[in-house]
Amino acid sequence: PKEGFIVIIGSGLIGRSWAMVFASGGFRVKLYDIIQEQVTAALEDIRKQMDELAKAGMLRGSLSADQQISLISGSSDLKTALEGTIFIQECVPENLELKLKIFSDLDAHVNNTAIISSSTSCLSPAKMFNGLRHVKNCIVAHPVNPPYYVPLVELVPHPQTDPVTVEKTYHLMKKIGQSPVKLMKETDGFVLNRLQYAVISEAWRLVQDGVITPRDVDIVMSEGLGMRYAFLGPLETAHLNAEGFKSYCERYGEGIQRVLNTFGPVPNFSGDVAKKIDEALWDDQPDKSNQLKTRREWRDACLSHLAKLKKEM
Ligand code: NAD
Repeated sequence: PKEGFIVIIGSGLIGRSWAMVFASGGFRVKLYDIIQEQVTAALEDIRKQMDELAKAGMLRGSLSADQQISLISGSSDLKTALEGTIFIQECVPENLELKLKIFSDLDAHVNNTAIISSSTSCLSPAKMFNGLRHVKNCIVAHPVNPPYYVPLVELVPHPQTDPVTVEKTYHLMKKIGQSPVKLMKETDGFVLNRLQYAVISEAWRLVQDGVITPRDVDIVMSEGLGMRYAFLGPLETAHLNAEGFKSYCERYGEGIQRVLNTFGPVPNFSGDVAKKIDEALWDDQPDKSNQLKTRREWRDACLSHLAKLKKEM
């Protein structure tokens, strides 16, 4: 195993995934939660998931499932969990008060070199890390669900985060096979969600205006834009669709502006349109929770195949 422990705080959906990703990269991991039963359940679930991944040939990393499982241990005592840690990934529920409490506990117990990283999807690093003694070692590393299959990690600094912390986190993420990007400063929603919300809001308006059905707008993405977006971003897509990005702007800029000027206001995300989209997305079967479970399993299988394909390209 590699030197030094990774500590995961919170053993829910995201904490378990991070534990598996770090173990796949050969790191020893301590999984901490306030409730011992929660830790035990998480370790059992991880074992089950890893065995299944190994059987399906989808296990990440070069170690066997047994070797990876042996790298992960549980703990419900914060102080002992933190001994020898080089990197802490916080994964408790998305609640500012709770996170503030956790960071102040961590601040009191960590050494001066360990990095304190948060999985938050949308809380502000400025608010979460303000005033901490170890603020220069603090950063947001926002994963995408499910992190085991979707490699992007958004790194978002506090204004006082040491650039060394950013670089170390960046290289650690690379080492475990994730794809980090660095935000130079924080912005509400970070970058992934800002792009995602732009897409969701236009999808909403197109359905609201009666242009297209909810099912068909999803097909535009999955069978159209998404085919390229799994490999190329919107900027390089444009670059390739003309003789470079500047040529693309010269050719299409005016048309794009004309269309953008027809975009409607920010949706209220409630009422008839929400109901219409919701109804369209369920199938006719009565068992709703089973529908979600089956579809999520299918999504994860697709993502895992796509990740394999991307490695071969
Ligand atoms: P979750 O509810 O599945 O897990 C949270 C875990 O934290 C639970 O195991 C709980 O017992 C534990 N916990 C609660 N209080 C604690 C404490 N004081 N000390 C230690 N552990 C404690 O939540 P999740 O979906 O894994 O989300 C965790 C974080 O990851 C959130 O900040 C969320 O925004 C972020 N995130 C979630 C997703 C997603 O799609 N679920 C994606 C990216 C980022």
